[in-house]
Amino acid sequence: TGGLMRGKRGLIMGVANDHSIAWGIAKALAAEGAELAFTYQGEALGKRVKPLALSLGSDLVVPCDVEKLDTVDAAFDAVRDRFGGLDFLVHGIAYSDKNELKGRYADTTRDNFVRTMVISAFSFTEIAKRAAPLMAPGGSLVTLTFGGATRVTPNYNVMGVAKAALEASVRYLAADYGAVGLRVNAISAGPVRTLAGAGITDARFMYNYHRAHAPLRRPVTIEDVGGSALYLLSDLSRGVTGEVHFVDGGFNIVGMPRSENLRS
Ligand code: NAD
Repeated sequence: TGGLMRGKRGLIMGVANDHSIAWGIAKALAAEGAELAFTYQGEALGKRVKPLALSLGSDLVVPCDVEKLDTVDAAFDAVRDRFGGLDFLVHGIAYSDKNELKGRYADTTRDNFVRTMVISAFSFTEIAKRAAPLMAPGGSLVTLTFGGATRVTPNYNVMGVAKAALEASVRYLAADYGAVGLRVNAISAGPVRTLAGAGITDARFMYNYHRAHAPLRRPVTIEDVGGSALYLLSDLSRGVTGEVHFVDGGFNIVGMPRSENLRS
């Protein structure tokens, strides 16, 4: 363990369990000396998140459901009361009705479109707006996205449209908050086996396809994402903002898979 993040305080939003990508990021930050606070969605998940937080020396663990703005405000009040300020923030929150993470995008309902957009895209804007006043120049925010934002991925559907909005938000927020010295970036992770990932129909095909065709020929781990997030949340990346950084084993660069079975 090193001291890259010593003296820095951050809020981690989106840990559900020890498979969560946000958990991989939290571990990397804590190993470098960061002081962490966590939010959780609902008491059932709270029971899992509290012991995980404690294992990293954190007892600031507060509820937050981004569909209920009063809980978002309360979470930031709690962070301000305890930390006084904030140096970084991780947003690892997404949701869509799994009945619409299959079949055709064209069949997305209006209700689920709105809900998916609010939870998975607009929540980052609402959270940035609350985090920014707590941050001094040098502060850094990171959210999590997926390549399905720009390239059609079977069954990803409305979540791909929401991630496109999230990635555009990252650029607009980077422009807004760059004026006060804050940085806003996204990590585009390859498929990881998590609770949210399992909501996508045929998730196993996605993992296997990715592993077979990514240049690194192995699945992405939450520790891989943690390492890249550490860079984006630390001063090492002080000149970087508005970026979508791929942590996908290189999958995004591939134009044609190396499948053998189409040769005739
Ligand atoms: P996860 O299920 O561990 O985390 C998703 C989190 O979102 C959970 O903690 C859940 O409580 C939270 N959440 C959902 N609705 C919420 C709400 N209304 N209020 C507050 N929190 C809410 O799964 P994950 O894969 O670690 O997902 C984290 C982020 O990474 C998501 O944005 C996801 O889209 C993104 N991502 C995942 C993958 C993957 O393959 N798993 C790949 C790229 C990007």
